[in-house]
Amino acid sequence: MRPFLLILSAPTGAGKTTIARALEGSRGDSVGFSISATTRVPRPLERDGVDYHFFSREEFERRRSAEEFLEWAEYGGNLYGTLASEVDRIQAAGRHVILDVDVQGARKIRKRRDDAVMVFILPPSAETLLERLRDRGAVSPADLRRRLEHAVRELDAIGDYDYVVVNQERSLAIQEV
Ligand code: 5GP
Repeated sequence: MRPFLLILSAPTGAGKTTIARALEGSRGDSVGFSISATTRVPRPLERDGVDYHFFSREEFERRRSAEEFLEWAEYGGNLYGTLASEVDRIQAAGRHVILDVDVQGARKIRKRRDDAVMVFILPPSAETLLERLRDRGAVSPADLRRRLEHAVRELDAIGDYDYVVVNQERSLAIQEV
């Protein structure tokens, strides 16, 4: 099978990153995770080059001018982007590429690539989403509010997606994706 792009989008806290990492862990020979670049500050336990490529705003903008990104978007005051080199590296190894991007990024990729499959991950309820966001200690009340408002707006884009998976039970959701 020709390697394709698997775009996973979800409100933060829906469990998308866990699903993406589990897929990579269990099927590492056939799928690879595209590590995004961001100007956001690393959370505790996040590692540069593993969770994200953490760039300064200057470095991000320089690479953006050099057209190194397949897509980029601004989210919560920070820049996020997919490096074309990441996608190429994974596809060159004959593996499908998992991309964890927001709805703006997903739209841009779909326009540029005809080999993208788009999956939207939903939390089982608004309460669960709130709980999961709160469990991330680093989230301030202002940040929480921004992320929740953003989540509600992102839901409007759900019709763009090929599949919707509800993350009620993690192992089931992984299997479905
Ligand atoms: P977080 O700060 O919680 O890691 O991510 C915030 C949002 O940015 C999430 O919706 C995530 O999917 C999105 N995101 C992460 N990487 C990228 C990327 O490379 N491009 C775009 N457009 N969004 C991204």
